[in-house]
Amino acid sequence: MTLVLDGKALSLQMEAQLLARVTRLRDSTGRTPILATILVGDDPASATYVKMKGNACHRVGMDSIRRTLPSDTSTEQLLAEIAALNANPDVHGILLQHPVPEQIDERACFDAIALEKDVDGVTCLGFGRMSMGERAYGSATPAGIMSLLKAYDVALAGKHAVVVGRSAILGKPMAMMLLGADATVTICHSKTLDLPALIKQADIVVGAVGRPEFIKAEWIKDGAVVVDAGYHPGGVGDIELAPLMGRVSAITPVPGGVGPMTIATLIEQSVSAAER
Ligand code: NAP
Repeated sequence: MTLVLDGKALSLQMEAQLLARVTRLRDSTGRTPILATILVGDDPASATYVKMKGNACHRVGMDSIRRTLPSDTSTEQLLAEIAALNANPDVHGILLQHPVPEQIDERACFDAIALEKDVDGVTCLGFGRMSMGERAYGSATPAGIMSLLKAYDVALAGKHAVVVGRSAILGKPMAMMLLGADATVTICHSKTLDLPALIKQADIVVGAVGRPEFIKAEWIKDGAVVVDAGYHPGGVGDIELAPLMGRVSAITPVPGGVGPMTIATLIEQSVSAAER
């Protein structure tokens, strides 16, 4: 039997709890949590993600402010926008949708977000604090994966986790969160030698590569826990999932696994920021 780690169902449960928290906060303070989203340019996938995040805010009773900037925005203009949102006491969280157009220094803009409003966990400071076990909002996708694994009581301590991908928003923070949960972690990337052999050793595999079904089912050992962070047109992830059903111990479906948990985590961290 393969346990399906149902991120859609868990995200709905989280939203019900968040609605209650937002209602309590509004009743006791008269204030509504607000997430500000910034979308730069006209990438349709990014526009869809921002819209989905705004919709999720409204489902839990939060407000969202949406800033849409043209594709020729400069780093300085984006930094000025972030500075204004940092200074706005009504804004509790800031989401800068990744990726931004290439003329912009994305790292400088992420790092300009005030730590207490970094509800998407994108700043170097937040990453460093999280890695050191200090309080910080985790990067939303890996933090959502950790919540999903916890909700299903997936054991992590002492397990060998192989994370394929080392991006700043996914692979690296994922590896540090698994390490923080006492897994033994291997991080793989495009220069890794003999990836199939490393994946074969994994008790937990996390696919964060950005290529459809790049990780083959035959590379994964029987009984492993399989987490697929990828999403591509046609509803496939970064891992060849179908042949694994019945052979591995747990699996995140695509869609309905990691994706909904990313949004629920962003919203949960926004509500926490407002409560603080
Ligand atoms: P990314 O920034 O493009 O990073 C991809 C990583 O994969 C890089 O570290 C790269 O290595 C590595 N890689 C590329 N080719 C490889 C190969 N042949 N062998 C081993 N590693 C290889 O992507 P990302 O932003 O982390 O996203 C990864 C996936 O997660 C995508 O499918 C994306 O759609 C998905 N995603 C989902 C959510 C969600 O909410 N569900 C959120 C974010 C991302 P190098 O560092 O060496 O280049």
